[in-house]
Amino acid sequence: MIKDNLQEIKNSIPKHVTLVAVSKTKPIADLQEAYDAGQRVFGENKVQEMVTKYDALPKDIEWHMIGHLQRNKVKYMAHFVSLIHGVDSFKTLKEINKQAQKHNRVINCLLQAHIAEEETKFGLSFDEISEIINSEEFNNLQNINVVGLMGMATFTDNEHQIKNEFSSLQNYFNSIKSTSKDNLHPKILSMGMSGDYQLAIECGSTMVRIGSSIFGVRNYLS
Ligand SMILES: *Cc1c(COP(=O)(O)O)cnc(C)c1O
Repeated sequence: MIKDNLQEIKNSIPKHVTLVAVSKTKPIADLQEAYDAGQRVFGENKVQEMVTKYDALPKDIEWHMIGHLQRNKVKYMAHFVSLIHGVDSFKTLKEINKQAQKHNRVINCLLQAHIAEEETKFGLSFDEISEIINSEEFNNLQNINVVGLMGMATFTDNEHQIKNEFSSLQNYFNSIKSTSKDNLHPKILSMGMSGDYQLAIECGSTMVRIGSSIFGVRNYLS
């Protein structure tokens, strides 16, 4: 039961850690069930799917885009998205700013850091993140607010490696945490999924993105 799974996870995470229920590929009825159990923060990784679900579900839901983002899709969610986790280029940040401006909004973003050893996971190096947030051009983006960082560890059983990767992001996060600008207020560290969220919380995560432990395994073929 989704309700029981949610309760179990909530009991296992500290109060200051936000739970994002990752509902990608799941039907609207499943999201409604989680909503009825009190869940208000949902994460999706495809813009079109998130828009369809946004249209169908109650409007007090906070929608988080957690997947790799194509710049030409930003416009479809700019009027309602509450947090974009996977920002991995300056160009994308500029596009989000442009679309947010059209709707007279400020969109909260997390910069995605590449911490895994796999080449396939998207993300910026710590140097690239520093370069972006310290650039002159960044200061002009008044319709975005960079509220923290996001990262994904390598998919492995090696807990030592996962911890090292999460710790490296925690260290970098701590190094920029006291930097504040009009559009930079780093307070969120989004790390941890179903398989590794306990380790992530030990390493300072303030936001976990959990899908299969709540909704069951995903079947991409259905
Ligand atoms: C799918 C996904 C998750 C959730 O994964 P689970 O293992 O099902 O908890 C978390 N973060 C991102 C970026 C994802 O794409």
